[in-house]
Amino acid sequence: MIASHLVAPEDIDVSWADIAGLDGVIQELRETVVLPVRHRELFRRSQLWRAPKGVLLHGPPGCGKTLIAKAIAKDAGMRFINLDVAVLTDKWYGESQKLATAVFTLAQKLQPCIIFIDEIESFLRIRGSGDHEATAMMKTQFMLQWDGLVSNANTCVLVLGATNRPQDLDKAILRRMPAQFHIGVPRDVQRESILQLILQSEQLHNSVNLKELARLTPGFSGSDLRELCRHASMYRMRQFMRDKMGDEHRDDLGSKGDGQVNEQTLQN
Ligand code: ATP
Repeated sequence: MIASHLVAPEDIDVSWADIAGLDGVIQELRETVVLPVRHRELFRRSQLWRAPKGVLLHGPPGCGKTLIAKAIAKDAGMRFINLDVAVLTDKWYGESQKLATAVFTLAQKLQPCIIFIDEIESFLRIRGSGDHEATAMMKTQFMLQWDGLVSNANTCVLVLGATNRPQDLDKAILRRMPAQFHIGVPRDVQRESILQLILQSEQLHNSVNLKELARLTPGFSGSDLRELCRHASMYRMRQFMRDKMGDEHRDDLGSKGDGQVNEQTLQN
């Protein structure tokens, strides 16, 4: 089950070139995380400059945290374990503890390796009386294993967490993630870069002004911008098919209602 979420760096489908508008944070992540892994021998002699064993990416949904996690793994040549939190938390008493140990054992065998945990707050949230005993024990086991990594300077395994709710994370977890990066909602210029990337291989009408489109979309995440462009291209495709192909392809065009929703999305 865990191995099914394991990807070798050469098979990771995201690189830095697929991420726009985040040059500053990418530069920092490359210096903090990627370079110490790629040049382990060089960095091993330094007490100060070591690859961190815990990194947190936080910020609103759809702004690129998962893309960044994958691009780090690809650039650093690390295997990528995408840990499905449900697998750990749904197990029978005692089983989830064994699984937590198995994840870290596997990661150490496969190192250099990233253990990526999306929505890490759902798994390692502030501990409280509401915690089921088995969950509390699994968390303790997880942290013990993690501490084992931290104390072993030669191990190249990184726990990389992503969250929309950093305030819900246990303080003990935050301490284990000294490197924290905010991936926020893109500003105008960032939105323009994202739009350029999304539309780079599309044929655009002369009247399309990406700067203006970026200005008109405050609050849109990268994911929202991708959806907007997808709707726009579907809308144009429907119009094209209606004009060129007539009634014979009417069944392929979808409902008229769909077209109206898309048009409205664009006007908004
Ligand atoms: P969540 O918190 O919901 O998991 P996330 O922050 O991990 O969201 P991603 O899954 O990385 O967001 O991004 C979702 C999609 O949005 C990407 O697959 C990509 O198409 C687009 N996207 C988001 N941010 C960017 C960006 N900066 N550059 C290019 N595409 C982006």
